Amino acid sequence: MTAYVGRFAPSPTGPLHRGSLVAAMASYLDAKASHGRWLVRIEDIDEARTMPGAAEAILQCLLALGMQWDEEVVWQSRRKPLYEAAFQRLAPYVYPCGCTRREIADSRIGIGPDGAAVYPGTCRTGLAPGKAARAYRLRVPDPAMAQITFEDRWIGRVSQNLATEVGDFVLKRADGFWAYQLAVVVDDGDQGVTDVVRGADLLDSTPRQIYLQRLLGLPTPRYLHVPVLTNAAGEKLSKQTGAQALDLARPLEELNAAARFLGLRSDQVQSVEGFWKQAVAAWAARFADQ
Ligand code: GLU
Repeated sequence: MTAYVGRFAPSPTGPLHRGSLVAAMASYLDAKASHGRWLVRIEDIDEARTMPGAAEAILQCLLALGMQWDEEVVWQSRRKPLYEAAFQRLAPYVYPCGCTRREIADSRIGIGPDGAAVYPGTCRTGLAPGKAARAYRLRVPDPAMAQITFEDRWIGRVSQNLATEVGDFVLKRADGFWAYQLAVVVDDGDQGVTDVVRGADLLDSTPRQIYLQRLLGLPTPRYLHVPVLTNAAGEKLSKQTGAQALDLARPLEELNAAARFLGLRSDQVQSVEGFWKQAVAAWAARFADQ
């Protein structure tokens, strides 16, 4: 069996909060319970959303909570040539798209599980006269060939039809930035990630990522999507929905709260080291049969 490589891949749009701590903790526990390596990758490819100083704050916070990564931190903003190279390899499946967001929404072909409008394929056969390329999209197969199914270690079997539920999706955005879907697949492949453990808000992205892995000849990692912490209105915690910053003066309380959310018993432990010892053992026991 290949040696386990896991990762935590935060977007530096704000400091670590209680919701992102849950994802960080799950990926760390899974790596440690598997005697694997745990990598941290800063997903700062969307420079418009990157908040100055947030990446450094996230890294400091991980260390303060006892989560030490095993290799040098990787920054997506410094890896653009890798995304360009993958994009070139995908060229036979890529086409320029001149549609605006509004035009796609107005086509009303359907709404995907992530709430985004399914792309109707308007520019598949070429840009309409007078239209300029805005984004670059990847052509997905016809519906009969577009079903992607995988076993999630937390959720079980997940299946999505890329043609009817997503449509041709963006690899290079209208603002010139690489799409998350492309960058994450290139990086997970390049870093030899065997296990992706992250929040279930990304579950709907996974079939797109599996499809890209297949086209690029990359192995598909195992996936485990943990529940996402929401606020009273049922919204995913984020800076926009009022996520509270972590109280680093009380690391054990923060760790215990995240562990309880993940369904781990958190007994009275006296130290951060003690917490991790207990939590890793509990995680290993829970997933022992996988
Ligand atoms: N950067 C993404 C986020 O912070 C996570 C990417 C991933 O884990 O695949 O939501």
